[in-house]
Amino acid sequence: MIVIVSPDVAEGSDTYKSLLQYLTQLPKVQTKVHRVTGTEQTLTEIYLLGSTASLDAAEIAAQPGVERVVRVSQEYRVIGRHSDDHRPAGFEYNGVKFNQNNLHIFAGLCAVSTEKHVESMMQALQQHGQQCTRMGAYKPRTNPYAFQGHGKNCLPYVFELAGKYGIKVIAMEVTHESHVAEINQALEAAGKPTGVMLQIGTRNTQNFELLKSVGRQSEYPILIKRGFGITLNESLNATEYLASEGNSKIVFCLRGMKTNMGDPHRNLVDFAHVPVVKRLTRLPVCIDPSHSVGTLTESIDAISDVFHATAQGIIAGANMVLVDFHPEPKAALVDGAQALTLAQLPWFLEDCQIAWQAYERRVALAKSQS
Ligand code: PEP
Ligand code: MN
Repeated sequence: MIVIVSPDVAEGSDTYKSLLQYLTQLPKVQTKVHRVTGTEQTLTEIYLLGSTASLDAAEIAAQPGVERVVRVSQEYRVIGRHSDDHRPAGFEYNGVKFNQNNLHIFAGLCAVSTEKHVESMMQALQQHGQQCTRMGAYKPRTNPYAFQGHGKNCLPYVFELAGKYGIKVIAMEVTHESHVAEINQALEAAGKPTGVMLQIGTRNTQNFELLKSVGRQSEYPILIKRGFGITLNESLNATEYLASEGNSKIVFCLRGMKTNMGDPHRNLVDFAHVPVVKRLTRLPVCIDPSHSVGTLTESIDAISDVFHATAQGIIAGANMVLVDFHPEPKAALVDGAQALTLAQLPWFLEDCQIAWQAYERRVALAKSQS
């Protein structure tokens, strides 16, 4: 059960203190306080954990300082979409709004290769009106002898160039909590010219200690990838770990499932789950067509499978696209075979817009039927 505190009740006030005291003495329940920073306002939510079935929701709702009471299903307490749940969804970070009704493209380098490549990428993004990108500094690799990413050494120039070219949010994978500290330090040292969305990779979806530590910090939003070999329910529970630790600025990313049934693609594209995740949770949903499809093979219509998969996800309502580009794919240190070129960037962006407009028309048509 979630008790939503009236926005005009300050946390230190007498009303708040008596409310918390009242809730704390309820039998067999524990309280956990969450502050939720939405686009419009910051809300305080008090979660009642334990045996809540026998509690009288109407009596709790009648207490001074209570705005509303929401009964939640057992699963996905924080990230879930519950009946009678009209809590604001989405968040704003560094001036960019993320929610279930808009679309952002994060085109960029799977792995940072050279400073020159980072600059060419960001310059092209600015030229085409983009404020977001992806830049891999810490790469989890299958083979221990493969390039592991430049790590903290590349952060100073990545952040400085992002500031120079007006990039507001960089999706960057972290595989250990020390990476968050390194990112923090480098951003501070550079004077915070940009922002970072911390990415949890598919290999770490169920790394619960990493999830807990990343969920405990509230500075950076989080992009969590679906685990490539676990059920959707397991991945959403992993996502709940982040939120239950206090950070609900989360985007959930579909990136394909690991199975030979997806051949000749690298993974089996799972973008039919976009509307499912939007229905089960209040999270914006991202798709990663590059890691799903993994090749740039063209079909008979001169459109590559990566473009097709992207359009399929967007036309189903995806809110974010994480996609690999590289100024010189042959010189890429990771995943060059799936990287689109800068010359293809305006084409890709326009193709995304076509799919998004088609999605909006489909929503309008559906609404006109009811
Ligand atoms: C990535 O986005 O760079 C990546 C490694 O993706 P995934 O975790 O989905 O394999
Ligand atoms: Mn990759």
